[in-house]
Amino acid sequence: MDAHLRPLMFSGRISSVKAYAIHLFARLAALMNKMNPDCTFCKIVAGTSPATILYHDEQVTAFRDLHPVAPTHILIVPNKHIESVNELEPADEVTVGHIFSVSRMLAEHEGIDSSGYRIINNTGVHGGQTVFHMHFHLIGGQRMKHPMG
Ligand code: AMP
Ligand code: ZN
Repeated sequence: MDAHLRPLMFSGRISSVKAYAIHLFARLAALMNKMNPDCTFCKIVAGTSPATILYHDEQVTAFRDLHPVAPTHILIVPNKHIESVNELEPADEVTVGHIFSVSRMLAEHEGIDSSGYRIINNTGVHGGQTVFHMHFHLIGGQRMKHPMG
């Protein structure tokens, strides 16, 4: 696990002053990063819409899915409004890689790293995307059905 991820995770484990500073930083970053005022996930990133946020930093925010399909169902989103994988730019590659690092960290936190989990991205209508702010589902805590599709 990357050491630099630890101080930022799970606001209950760090001082409230530091957590608040991080929260403000994330909100500022969201506002500076082409936030879409009509987007549900942008509002969650900005802190203006409720969600159970598990992790946030300057690049990404993770929160529990409103309608979980498994004991663990977490959404990891870039703070920047990117509609879908189709709109990714080369400069976003670091953020996408970071999403996977954060997913792994959250899987450990949820205690599902050794039992296994799925990381899913839905893109566009045929992909089943319903919220057009790119996100990755981290799902686990039970054996997944296979095959997909
Ligand atoms: P997708 O179908 O891949 O676009 O996934 C969208 C996901 O977002 C679904 O699993 C929804 O349950 C979830 N969702 C929608 N609105 C919210 C919200 N306000 N807070 C948390 N999860 C949400
Ligand atoms: Zn958005």
